Amino acid sequence: MTVGDPRDVVARKRDGQTLAPADIQAFVEGYTAGDVSDALAAAFLMASVLRGLDDGETLALTRAMIDSGDTVSFGDLGRPSVDKHSTGGVADGVTLAFAPIAAALGMAVAKLSGRGLGHTGGTLDKLESIPGLRTDLSPEDIARQVTEVGCAVAAQSANLVPADGKLYALRDATATVPSVPLIAASVMSKKLAVRTDRIILDVKAGSGAFMKTPEDAEVLARACLALARGWERPADVAVTDMSQPLGDAIGNALDIAEAVRLLRGSVHGRLRDLAVIFAARALEATEHVAHDDALARAEHAIDGGEALERFRRMVEAQGGDPHVVDDPEAVLPAAPVVVPIVAQRNGTLAAVDAQAIGAASVALGAGRIRKGDPIDPAVGIVVHRKIGDRLVAGEPVGDVHARSRDDAHHASERVLRAFTVIEGDAQPPPLVYRWVEDGSRP
Ligand code: URA
Repeated sequence: MTVGDPRDVVARKRDGQTLAPADIQAFVEGYTAGDVSDALAAAFLMASVLRGLDDGETLALTRAMIDSGDTVSFGDLGRPSVDKHSTGGVADGVTLAFAPIAAALGMAVAKLSGRGLGHTGGTLDKLESIPGLRTDLSPEDIARQVTEVGCAVAAQSANLVPADGKLYALRDATATVPSVPLIAASVMSKKLAVRTDRIILDVKAGSGAFMKTPEDAEVLARACLALARGWERPADVAVTDMSQPLGDAIGNALDIAEAVRLLRGSVHGRLRDLAVIFAARALEATEHVAHDDALARAEHAIDGGEALERFRRMVEAQGGDPHVVDDPEAVLPAAPVVVPIVAQRNGTLAAVDAQAIGAASVALGAGRIRKGDPIDPAVGIVVHRKIGDRLVAGEPVGDVHARSRDDAHHASERVLRAFTVIEGDAQPPPLVYRWVEDGSRP
């Protein structure tokens, strides 16, 4: 497609005009091909943040991003295929549990994932802490594995929505990430480029999320749902709590160990509950199973051991050491220093700055500040207290896994500073704020 001067596109958005789909398509095409400069693209992004993009423009941007690369179809695997995605949080290992639970329930989970960036963790980084495990699977490998095992979690290829890869890095560098239409187009372009029968989207709200309030998260959830509808793709979109780390482990190997314990039935709490809720929702939607029955079956997939078995087979199929499910501590890399985090005063945990705890884990080496940075799979933080729990001065509330005692003490201080401790009681926040209604639900 040809376009006139791309500066005109930026100028029109700067002046608050609505852009035609063809303008957006040509601009994104030009940027992906290297014909539109970073400077101009950054100006476009900032104009879009400040002036907004309407539904038609957001749809056009999403389409242009999808058209910039390959698309993949996992729509014909002999059982309902489901993709699950979270907009990013702290201790958000839901996919690690969801995929084998859903597989145990007869669904096919073909998930292409990204890596962690900023304070949020990435499923691929966590999985790669299992010795030998590969995530660079071809679409054919994924389809074969999903047919045999029921689930696969692999890296999205560089040519899946390359425009988003480029634009996201530019947004990160130019303070243009927090915009509902830009986030919705970015998230949904990657979901819509991979055809599955159903998308479960988890839009996070709270101190560890991009959207700090449930109300703002709902606006993003609705924008994502509108895009799914525009593509006639059935989707269930939930706004869920990220006002504190979801699970206990914030790292990579530590998250795998927690997921294994969850699948062995020995971890209860919000992480397990959310994985069960999503797997049940997927079962309700794809197999028309009644809500309570779907929840009971998802719980049974864990308690009966079938989900753990699916996880073992997924790890093995991807080249990882399957003994991780028998003895995670023996198989996974361990940090040389483990230091307890000790409560400084009595009281009730009333609020948590989850982003600060995520950042403390990144500072230990568990995450990356820039795309491509190496990560240390062994380090991280474990926090055993949730909002509403009592803290007792002198008692441990978790621990830091680090390379050095200095690193560990810094991280421990950062975790304690991220806690708001009060004298009275505090109510735990809801786990799921709401499901955003999906008119496309069959
Ligand atoms: N996740 C994405 O993939 N893109 C965004 O813009 C934000 C979160």
